[in-house]
Amino acid sequence: MKIAPSEYFARQAALNEVGPEGVARLQAARVTIVGVGGVGCAIAVYLAKAGVGTLRLIDQDIVEPTNLQRLHGISETQLYLPKAEAVREAIVGLHPWVKAEAVVETLRQANAEELLAETDIVFDGLDNFRTRYVLNRYCSTAELPYLFTSSVALQGHVGLFTPPETPCLECALPGVQDGPENACELLGASSSTVGVVGAIAAEEASKFLLGLRSRVQGSILTIDMMGPDFLLTRVTRRDNCPVCRGEVTKMPDEGVAVMLCGARTANVLPKRTLLVDLKAVAQYASETVLASSDSVLVYRLGSHIVSLFQTGRVIVDGVRDQSEALQIAEKVWKQAERASSPRLAGLTRGLDLLLLNSPPP
Ligand SMILES: [Zn+2]
Repeated sequence: MKIAPSEYFARQAALNEVGPEGVARLQAARVTIVGVGGVGCAIAVYLAKAGVGTLRLIDQDIVEPTNLQRLHGISETQLYLPKAEAVREAIVGLHPWVKAEAVVETLRQANAEELLAETDIVFDGLDNFRTRYVLNRYCSTAELPYLFTSSVALQGHVGLFTPPETPCLECALPGVQDGPENACELLGASSSTVGVVGAIAAEEASKFLLGLRSRVQGSILTIDMMGPDFLLTRVTRRDNCPVCRGEVTKMPDEGVAVMLCGARTANVLPKRTLLVDLKAVAQYASETVLASSDSVLVYRLGSHIVSLFQTGRVIVDGVRDQSEALQIAEKVWKQAERASSPRLAGLTRGLDLLLLNSPPP
């Protein structure tokens, strides 16, 4: 880049609350965003512009046509590619000084420690409480600052939880069930509302990283763009909150197949992590491929759109329930195996195929 960072960040450094030392502090900060949909993508953009040096972007999903309306810097050319990779590309393209890492994965209790390692603050840009609780519980135990956000229709929420100093998310919102009645497919999503939520969340994180006081710490800010109204609610610790009492040891069963936010779409995890040679499968399914990258192959299978990830994880749309999703995933795994089979090597000669194995232990 031709512009010197000192020039790029001149106005940021001129802020009383930041100064040149603050810019340096932000440049040294490492931030993880779990879920880079509308809100998470806006957070990433504002953090990059604020000079945050290292961003880890975790998302299990692909860019769908209905997502484009609220993803900053993402175009049709990135349709069906993993959201984490598309957002990473957009962020680094405009802010080359940011070190950004894309993690195309489902956050679970089993991988939380690995995925959330070496980070100063974690953002929740998720669309479901099942994963939020995994995040809340991990952050609470690890004493990792957790910035909760959500947005649906013209409303949004932002809260910063830093137990044991503050209560946790589940003190305020325990036992929330995800259901289609709360999903953006039904209620809608506004690009400016997710932008406002992302901008406030990014500013709160910057303040926290700079050691400035925030009224959102230990509270939930509700934003209603219809007024607009801004309501700050102090969260009090629930005496019987199992997370704050350190009693939660195991998360509820995550299941092999889980229906995603509102849509007739499911995320299906393989029983063990695989290492699928996506190029081999792409060859096999070449006529119906919609998009491919190193980490995912997206193709049509009958009336469904299937995303097969390198780890063997499958997202399938147009399904009624988990069991239908699982049936389709079994079919996809069988196809992947067949595509990598030595018997069919003649079809795929010259490519580096034949690899549907577990990674080495
Ligand atoms: Zn709690």
